[in-house]
Amino acid sequence: MSPTVRNILLFATAIVLIGVALASIDVGSVKTLDVTAFAREIQTGNVASIVVRGSTVDVELKDGSKATVRKETGETLSELLSNVGVDAERIRDVPIEVKDASGAAYWAGAILPNLLPILLLVGIMWFFLRQIQGQNSRTMMFGQSGAREIQKDGKGKITFTDVAGVKEAKEELAEIVEFLKSPGKFVDLGAKIPKGVLLMGGPGTGKTLLARAVAGEADVPFFHMSGSEFVEMFVGVGASRVRDLFAKAKKTAPCIIFIDEIDAVGRQRGSGLGGSHDEREQTLNQILVEMDGFEPNIGIIVIAATNRPDVLDPALLRPGRFDRRVVLDPPDLNDREAILAIHAKGKPLAKDVTLRSLAERTPGFSGADLANLMNEAAILAARKDRKEVIMTDLFDSIEKVMLGPERRSHLLNEDERRVTAVHEAGHALVAHLLPHADPVHKISIISRGRAAGYTIKLPIEDRKMRRRGEYLEDLTVLLGGFAAEKAFFDDITTGASSDMKQATRIARSMVTQWGMSDLLGPRVYGEQEDMIFLGREIHENRDYGEETAKKIDTEIDALIGKALADAKALLLEHRAAVERVADALMEKETLERDAFYAVVGIPPANPKNALQTS
Ligand code: ADP
Ligand code: MG
Ligand code: ZN
Repeated sequence: MSPTVRNILLFATAIVLIGVALASIDVGSVKTLDVTAFAREIQTGNVASIVVRGSTVDVELKDGSKATVRKETGETLSELLSNVGVDAERIRDVPIEVKDASGAAYWAGAILPNLLPILLLVGIMWFFLRQIQGQNSRTMMFGQSGAREIQKDGKGKITFTDVAGVKEAKEELAEIVEFLKSPGKFVDLGAKIPKGVLLMGGPGTGKTLLARAVAGEADVPFFHMSGSEFVEMFVGVGASRVRDLFAKAKKTAPCIIFIDEIDAVGRQRGSGLGGSHDEREQTLNQILVEMDGFEPNIGIIVIAATNRPDVLDPALLRPGRFDRRVVLDPPDLNDREAILAIHAKGKPLAKDVTLRSLAERTPGFSGADLANLMNEAAILAARKDRKEVIMTDLFDSIEKVMLGPERRSHLLNEDERRVTAVHEAGHALVAHLLPHADPVHKISIISRGRAAGYTIKLPIEDRKMRRRGEYLEDLTVLLGGFAAEKAFFDDITTGASSDMKQATRIARSMVTQWGMSDLLGPRVYGEQEDMIFLGREIHENRDYGEETAKKIDTEIDALIGKALADAKALLLEHRAAVERVADALMEKETLERDAFYAVVGIPPANPKNALQTS
């Protein structure tokens, strides 16, 4: 229950309680009589007894009911009654008792009913005051960093051996650990140890993991905080948390401060909208101030991680701050095998499993994807009541991780299946017939995630750079599905929309970012800038005019147009092969590489893609 909800509930309960209390004070059967009514009762002889207490007259009637009458003080009861015209005999008939009005019981009886609500109110006010004070002290705690100190002993300990690949990053960080363990060695030689290390790498490349491994390796306190934790609802909290974090660190130096996802606070200043932007700016400024504030060799090392180094404020990257920058590359073939091996620990694998061939089939997977893959395979094996994970589980999991779960229930009707089959055959054939494309690995018309069908091509080797010609072929392959639908049905379904989106993005990047258009030359057009509140890449700093915008559009059109024409020409030329593949897909739903090559019956245009025959 959130504190607010709890307060509201408490308040409601209090009000109900007051109501009940007030109602019970005004107790039922005693009614008040006015003097005339009282006089009438005496006159008719209904009154059994009368007790006078100061200005209150308690009357008991013959039928047993009770009533109170108020009279002026200083006026006697008989005076009052004769004034309203009651006969003297009638008064005499009734026993009248006069009681001392100053008795403690009387006062208690008179005052308590009035006092009770006041007491209640005071009680409630006191209660709420206490609550508010409690909240205040919690607000005070906002200013504290709340950084978690990672325990270095115990089971969850992570060391460098738990991180595969990312060799340079590990070396760099091993050096840092070395310094923290024996600073003297470095200081004696006059070496200055970096204050800040920035880990940069795509999502899931193991930045957080590596930082935790540093914590496990180094025998020093390790403060872990995420960038977003600095930013709270209240202005100034972030800055004070930074202050607190560094104050704590200075007390425990040598130590490591780890700020994960630093882009949450470290974005370029002066580019935001609205209030929280000021807050980030203050937080960032405070980080800069603190990093300047301690001497290089006192043994505090700040490690930060981000997957958006491009949006970081340049001030963070200046010498003396995060001047060591470590890039975590996406894992290559060997790294992938090693990462798979790490995550295969504790999972019994069947004899047929070779992690190498799994690694070969997962180019572009990040460490997190691979960890996920192993886990999915184990789940799959468990669901099939196997005692070991077999290769099929692992292969099936690749596609699950890549494209989302199979949706066998997402049934297509016969027409839709035909269109999907032709569409996928189009992609596959174009890829098969282009000289630089990656080999077709698998085609399927089983829905997965949001795709109706899919064609998987796998690069033979990891590549870091790509040529313009390869991108042109990518475009052609992407439009292969669209072209096939158009050529074979002369109509288009919505199935091609994500292909088009991807193709457009590639074409735009070729023209505006990678200098791959002769017309526009080697220039970057439109520095893309993030607007935190508007989402990614919505805002583009247009640094070119209308004329250029038109040229860019023309160039993108030309690239897409050429790709489409090429794809269509290829498919029409090999019309029979497209039909064969589509028919095979209709029948078998999925074609693996060998089956596809057999059905096509034409050797791949890229000789490297030929099947290895042994
Ligand atoms: P990020 O770079 O986004 O911080 P993480 O460090 O959180 O990525 O990685 C997520 C998970 O992926 C890790 O917990 C780990 O299981 C796995 N992983 C990522 N990279 C590696 C790696 N190099 N070696 C082993 N496991 C890795
Ligand atoms: Mg992370
Ligand atoms: Zn497609």
